[in-house]
Amino acid sequence: MLELFPWHQTQWRQLLAARDRSRLHHALLLAGPGGVGVDRFAECLARRMLCENPPGEDVACGLCRACALLEAGSHPDTLRVAPEEEGKQIPVDAIRDLIDYLQLSSHGGSIKIAIVAPAERMNWNAANTLLKVLEEPPGSALIMLVSSRPSLLPATIRSRCQIVEFPPVHDQSAQDWLRQRLPEGQEAGDLLLLARGEPIKAAAMLENGADKKQLEILQDLKAGGDPIGLATKWQFLDIAEVFATIAVFLAQLSRLKSGAMPHALADKGIMSELRALTPRLELTQMLACYERANQNHALAVGPYNINKQGLLEDFIIYWQNSFASNRGRQS
Ligand SMILES: [Zn+2]
Repeated sequence: MLELFPWHQTQWRQLLAARDRSRLHHALLLAGPGGVGVDRFAECLARRMLCENPPGEDVACGLCRACALLEAGSHPDTLRVAPEEEGKQIPVDAIRDLIDYLQLSSHGGSIKIAIVAPAERMNWNAANTLLKVLEEPPGSALIMLVSSRPSLLPATIRSRCQIVEFPPVHDQSAQDWLRQRLPEGQEAGDLLLLARGEPIKAAAMLENGADKKQLEILQDLKAGGDPIGLATKWQFLDIAEVFATIAVFLAQLSRLKSGAMPHALADKGIMSELRALTPRLELTQMLACYERANQNHALAVGPYNINKQGLLEDFIIYWQNSFASNRGRQS
């Protein structure tokens, strides 16, 4: 049966309490990075709302007729709207279907639920059409917009939703969850930090071996060498992950440089590489590189098709120039 991620308890209790007071907004914008599991939260909330015998603690009873239909993905009072293919837009027709669906009366006699994910994939027409429903919602409906980039949604849409934030998590509940998936002896905190507080992403990184590539990225950067060759080598990695990793390293470096305690990375190899790099860059340069890595990360996860090789070369050259200018000043 579907379970709530343990780090979603606060948002869960908040929304259930609102529902118990009949104060649940008809449109929720569930906003958080892709790797914190907001999709799952939306699904859990849909199940809770439709379950005929909702239990105290669990998401749903798992036994009633509604739960059986939900488990089979065929409950007539839920509709999921998504792009037909990953990376594509959500067209206006999909939103028109959603409106038609909401106008039918509920089969279970309670509520009709629609989940639009990722909501920022709606094209302009689709968003505009949805806006009309948000302004004049039909009787008993709950519309959930799931978005990892809510700033891409029109302000008019955002202002008509109750925004529920799902920030990155580093707390014990996320670490415990991740630790169950880790080989003996590996630190959950490290991986979570490198995955920017996105536990599901951290688990995926573990699965595809990305966690082992982190040290290699750092060593490559430290070694210098031909930017084009290096970018070509890194192209085979998930480049958003490459920039996220580099940004975490630079944040650690800046903390080391300024004498602040770094968020302890337990990986001794990474920490010793970082310590060795600290004297070779000024703090302002580290911060500038950090900003560049974050900008390139934003482009890499953004809605546009970007040239991966170009983006990687851009950063590597920027990084190497920082070192070169520093050497010049010191000599
Ligand atoms: Zn049930």
